[in-house]
Amino acid sequence: MHEPERFRSAEYLAVLDQSSTNYHCSFTAAALDTMRKAAEAGYPYEICGLLIGKFENNTWLIKEARQVENLNTERASDRFQLDPSGYQEIDRELRKSEWEIIGVFHSHPDCPAKPSPTDLENAWEGFIYPIISIYHGKVTKQLNWTLNEHATQFKAVTN
Ligand SMILES: [Zn+2]
Repeated sequence: MHEPERFRSAEYLAVLDQSSTNYHCSFTAAALDTMRKAAEAGYPYEICGLLIGKFENNTWLIKEARQVENLNTERASDRFQLDPSGYQEIDRELRKSEWEIIGVFHSHPDCPAKPSPTDLENAWEGFIYPIISIYHGKVTKQLNWTLNEHATQFKAVTN
């Protein structure tokens, strides 16, 4: 797969923490399907959304993914800004349930499934960040990330 030059730059490589993690994640087929379909329908623009589930025994259990509007229309091919009203709506709905918002997914059109410096700036501790790589309108890869213990870099989370 073609990897844009910037993904090999020092700035991009500095975003990644290569050490291994004890964290895992598990997605329902429905959640994976929602993310894949959203990425394909939105191509060539970045799409984003929230993950509903719970964190237990060092594992993010994701039962549902919901697409939320990407408010960044200026640079929609490589930036996303999740609509805060979408967040509030889901948060309100989950308030009396056992479920929580535990992550944010987004797509990388024609780019690898690796986080960018901008993704790092916007990341929250304790959240899981699946990135869906999509080339020519077809999803090729999904990698899942979380901030390291110092919140300075992303670490890959294995399924
Ligand atoms: Zn990104």
